[in-house]
Amino acid sequence: MSKSLQAIRGMNDILPEQTPLWRYFEGTVARLLDNYGYKQIRMPIVEFTELFKRSIGEVTDIVEKEMYTFEDRNGDSLTLRPEGTAACVRAVLEHGITGGGQVQKLWYIGPMFRHERPQKGRYRQFHQIGLEVFNLDGPDIDAELIIMTWRLWGELGIRDAVKLELNSLGTSESRGRYREALVEYLSAHHDKLDEDSQRRLKTNPLRVLDTKNADTQAVLVDAPKMADYLDDESRAHFEGLKARLDAVGIPYVLNPKLVRGLDYYSKTVFEWVTDQLGAQGTVCAGGRYDGLVEQMGGKPTPGVGFAMGIERLVLMLETLEQIPQEISRQVDVYLCAFGEEAELAGLALAERVRDELPNLRLQVNAGAGSFKSQFKKADKSGALYALILGDDEMAQQVVGFKPLRGQGEQQSIAWDALAAHLATCVVQG
Ligand code: ATP
Ligand code: MG
Repeated sequence: MSKSLQAIRGMNDILPEQTPLWRYFEGTVARLLDNYGYKQIRMPIVEFTELFKRSIGEVTDIVEKEMYTFEDRNGDSLTLRPEGTAACVRAVLEHGITGGGQVQKLWYIGPMFRHERPQKGRYRQFHQIGLEVFNLDGPDIDAELIIMTWRLWGELGIRDAVKLELNSLGTSESRGRYREALVEYLSAHHDKLDEDSQRRLKTNPLRVLDTKNADTQAVLVDAPKMADYLDDESRAHFEGLKARLDAVGIPYVLNPKLVRGLDYYSKTVFEWVTDQLGAQGTVCAGGRYDGLVEQMGGKPTPGVGFAMGIERLVLMLETLEQIPQEISRQVDVYLCAFGEEAELAGLALAERVRDELPNLRLQVNAGAGSFKSQFKKADKSGALYALILGDDEMAQQVVGFKPLRGQGEQQSIAWDALAAHLATCVVQG
C-alpha cells in the first residue's frame, strides 16, 4: 500500500478485536461519573489556535511544539485540540453556565492531538476522558476527584499498580515568589544545567524541576523548595486535601517536583503513575486552576479537573491481564436456517425473540450455506447456543436448541416457547 494511503504515523485504528476492551473501559468510567453526579459535555475537536495559546500558555511544550495548527479556507488559524480543558472553559463561558457561582461538574471523552514522537503509550491522536468542576474552591472537591479515580482503579483491578503523587503549587502570588527564588538559585548554577533547562530557566523556570537530566537533577537537590514558599491559604487547602485522602485510606506520595506541563495550575496538582508502561507512566493527571477562567475573560471562577489517557489505561488492563472474560463474547445465540422457507421463518422468529428479549445478542446467519458451514460460523461466533431450523423443525414448528459450549444435549423448543426458554439460559447484559 502506498504510504500516502496509510494512516498517519501515531494515529491508530482501533480494530474490532480491541474495541470490546475500550468499550468496557469507557462504560465503566461513564457509569462511575454518572453515579458521582457528573454530566457529560461534548465540545468540537477544532478551535481557534488563540484559545490554546491563551489558556495552556505560550511557553509550554504543547503550544511550542506539539499542536496541529492550520489555516482554514477563511484564513483563520485553527488547531486540533491537544487537550480538553481549554475548550471546556470556553464552552461554559460562551453559554454562561458557570455564571452567578453555578456549580458545574462536567466530563468529556474524545480524541486529542499532539505532534509528539510516537512510541508505546504516546501517540499523535490519543484519547482522553477528562473532567472539570467549576465554582467549588475547597479541598473537598479535589479529594472527590481523587477518590473517584481510586474507586475506578479498584473496579478495573489495577489499584495495586498505580501510585498517587501530590503537590501544591500555591497561589500565583506564592508561586511567583518561589519562581524568583528558584531562578536566582538556578542562575547561579547556570553552567551545570542541561541546554533544555537553560532555555526553560528563561521561559518557564518551574518546568526545570521536571527535568530528566541527571546533572540538572543534582543541581536541584539543594534548590529552594516550593513547600517553603506556600501561602497559608494554600497550605491549609493542601492539608484539607490530605486529611480527606487519609480518611478514605488512599495512599499518596508528596512529590515537590510535580509541576505539570500546563501553565494554568494553582494549588493542588496530582498524577497517578504506574511502573507498568515504561517511560509513559502517567495514566491520569490534573489539578486546580483557579485563575484560568478569569484569564480567559470570565469572572473569577475556581476550577479543578483531570484527564486520563485511555490508550495507557487500556494497555495497563492488557499488561496486567485485567480483561473481564465476558467482554470478549459478543454473541449469545446464533440462528442457522437451511432452505429458503426456513430462512424466512427464522427471520420472523428472530424478530419475535428480539421483541421479547431486547438485550439478547442474537445473530442470524447470513449468506446461507450448508449445515456444516453454518455450524462452523455459529461456533466461531462465540455463541453459547445455536438455534437450528431445517425441514424437520419447520414441519413441527420447533427450533433445534443446541448448546455449543458443552452444556448438554440438543433439544427441540416450540417457537412460541423460545423466548421464555432463552431467558432462562442466557444471562443478558
Ligand atoms: P506526558 O508527561 O506523558 O507527556 P502530559 O503531562 O503531557 O503527559 P496531560 O496533558 O496531563 O499529559 O494529559 C493527561 C493524560 O493524557 C496523561 O497523563 C496521559 O495519560 C495522556 N496523554 C497525554 N499525552 C499523550 C499522548 N501523546 N499519547 C497518549 N496518551 C497521552
Ligand atoms: Mg506531554
